[in-house]
Amino acid sequence: MRLLMYREAGVARPGVVVGEEVVDLAALARRDGSGADVPPASDLAGVIDRGQEGLASIRSRLAAYGESHELSRPLAELDILAPLDPPRGNVVCIGRNYEEHAAESARARGESMQRPTVFTKAQTTITGPFADIRVDPAISAEIDWEAELGVVIGRRGINIRREDALDYVFGYTVVNDVSARDIQHNWGGQFFKGKSIDGYCPIGPWIVTADEVPDPQALQVRLRVNGETKQDAGTRDMIFPVDELIAQLSLGMTLLPGTLIATGTPAGVGFARTPPEFLRPGDVMETEVMGIGTLRNPIVGI
Ligand code: ZN
Repeated sequence: MRLLMYREAGVARPGVVVGEEVVDLAALARRDGSGADVPPASDLAGVIDRGQEGLASIRSRLAAYGESHELSRPLAELDILAPLDPPRGNVVCIGRNYEEHAAESARARGESMQRPTVFTKAQTTITGPFADIRVDPAISAEIDWEAELGVVIGRRGINIRREDALDYVFGYTVVNDVSARDIQHNWGGQFFKGKSIDGYCPIGPWIVTADEVPDPQALQVRLRVNGETKQDAGTRDMIFPVDELIAQLSLGMTLLPGTLIATGTPAGVGFARTPPEFLRPGDVMETEVMGIGTLRNPIVGI
């Protein structure tokens, strides 16, 4: 299923995509009367908390709804919001996860590539899949893109074994880890501040439940600026695949339902290009994970 959040009459509502339409999950629960016993979740974090049982009840209600359109809205007309706003805790990010060459070089030098680079983005970076991204030259002159596969955790877990790790995934989404490179590189050699400018983490347009993504290493990640492709790589090229990332992240550190993991970005980011490229007002940034969805974010001045 594709689960999303949308705004109607000023209220954020959870919905499920059916074809080219969206069905309001709360109205769907009320329709069969079950909403009276268990109030419908008001957001997708609430849906995630109900686990597989909650997903099963949505599926059975959809089956009963059948070909009816009484609760449906055209997808194309909806004001779609970030599916998780906020996620549980900071967005957990992985650095340098596609640099095959970096891995080879490290191995050649006898260095270990056994641990991923981990950092976070503040919750206040989350913004909608079609929201404007604001650039303020007084804050940063080097705003850059990072197209990534997002993993949403569905079950609380610590010290998760790699062979069990995908059982902890609720679903997948598209993330752009928008980065202020001058802040990232010049504020004491840590990433947090440069990764945490408000609105610099568009996600969505929905969460695709894990049952529809049998192999998260068989997806293609793409980034376009004004229609020109800047990043294009397969998740098969990740140094640390999703199951191993979950196993390593959860070592001694509890992952919560609703945790969002940004799994790292492939080659082709702006600052590493020759000459470097950064986002400017008037640009349109599209972030795509094939089979999951596409974000489309206009860049606007302050
Ligand atoms: Zn990133």
